[in-house]
Amino acid sequence: MITFAYQFVDLIPDRLEEGIVYITIPYSTVVHLCMCGCKKEVVTPLSPTDWQITFNGESVSLHPSIGNWNFECQSHYWLIRNQVRFVKRWSQDQIVEGRKKDKQRKGIFFRKKGE
Ligand SMILES: [Zn+2]
Repeated sequence: MITFAYQFVDLIPDRLEEGIVYITIPYSTVVHLCMCGCKKEVVTPLSPTDWQITFNGESVSLHPSIGNWNFECQSHYWLIRNQVRFVKRWSQDQIVEGRKKDKQRKGIFFRKKGE
């Protein structure tokens, strides 16, 4: 089982360490190095239509899962209670479908906001 640590920071440090999830509340962003070990930087914005973080005082979870479709590794995993749970990679069809759903979700959200 792979675990990760977390750090609440004001600014994301220039040099990131593997296995640490950096959370900046002022910028509503979470940054970490890809958990597959390829060390690519994964930036996940926090918003009602992007990612949400759960901190229970001891551990951190991120929702939804992280799909690094733009990386060579194509890794897909969940960060749940300081643990990395790798799941099946998505097929090209699933990626397209996922992006469509994401757009729809954002469309609904921004329309609501504008009302
Ligand atoms: Zn990777």
